[in-house]
Amino acid sequence: MRLLVTGGAGYIGGVVTLHLLKAGHEVTVLDDLSTGHADSVPDGAAFVEGTLEDAAAAVLSRDQYDGVLHFAAKALVGESTQHPERYWRTNVVGSLALLEAMRANAVPRLVFSSTAATYGEPDEVPIVETAPTRPTNPYGASKLAVDMMITSEAQAHGLGAISLRYFNVAGASGPQGERHATETHIIPIALQVVSGRRPTFGIFGDDYPTPDGTCIRDYVHVDDLADAHQLALDATVPGEHRIYNLGSGAGFSVLDVVEAVRRVTGHPVPTEVQPRRGGDPAVLVASSARIREDLGWVPRKPTVDEMVADAWAFEQARAR
Ligand code: UDP
Repeated sequence: MRLLVTGGAGYIGGVVTLHLLKAGHEVTVLDDLSTGHADSVPDGAAFVEGTLEDAAAAVLSRDQYDGVLHFAAKALVGESTQHPERYWRTNVVGSLALLEAMRANAVPRLVFSSTAATYGEPDEVPIVETAPTRPTNPYGASKLAVDMMITSEAQAHGLGAISLRYFNVAGASGPQGERHATETHIIPIALQVVSGRRPTFGIFGDDYPTPDGTCIRDYVHVDDLADAHQLALDATVPGEHRIYNLGSGAGFSVLDVVEAVRRVTGHPVPTEVQPRRGGDPAVLVASSARIREDLGWVPRKPTVDEMVADAWAFEQARAR
């Protein structure tokens, strides 16, 4: 298929692009490089630098595309509470421009990068797709607005779409890994302690109502996420918008992850308990039963050790 990947210079978009190229698809990446890196666009993909608002229509009118995988977005919860307008513009206005360009150019299928943040604080875990959506920050709200936009686009104009709601994405895919200017994610931060770039790992709260007092999350390997995108691409049905949660279905605490980092790297990771981080729910675990049943998705690297090992190999390769 001829595919457009928005946000393909970022972490997840880059890994998915790599997988799509390996599967024989023809890929164009559209990215404004606001957080991505031009050298993260995998070899073999065409690259266009630009925003969704400015460039999506031009790109999609140049060739006949079979589908779009839409990752381009702002994705920092903290920033979204301080500068919500950036989230409404990039995520909502940008996605609207993309959908309009897709409709104008008769692009039939869309896979959208949605998020667990659309659910907010859950009443029950594991979280199923029918759980109430009550986002607790503008980031989650903006992604939920896009999901709603896509549903109406499918109903009114026949788009075939699947949204994948990710939980905690981790690991690396060979040369493609996580490289954020401001790192906030647990595994890259713990690896920075291992490589001596930070003195200690701060545990954000150890008084949560969980067995060891630290927050529990559902980690999914970025390669497994990429598999899910390929399955989704082949499963879209015109006029339907389906939503699937994506996690490994198991919860790991902050201390579990730190222990995995120690085990895999063989290095000590000194920790210190710090205050809770605002907006962190105690437990977020996905039910991925729906995507397993409908699309046959099975995570191939479900353990945190495998995710840490791949992220560590990526970090070491970068350091060299
Ligand atoms: N966390 C932590 N210390 C850090 C970074 C993260 O204790 O330096 C915790 C965070 O509070 C959360 C979990 O690790 O409970 C996962 O955080 P991350 O930012 O990786 O993902 P999120 O769940 O926020 O999407």
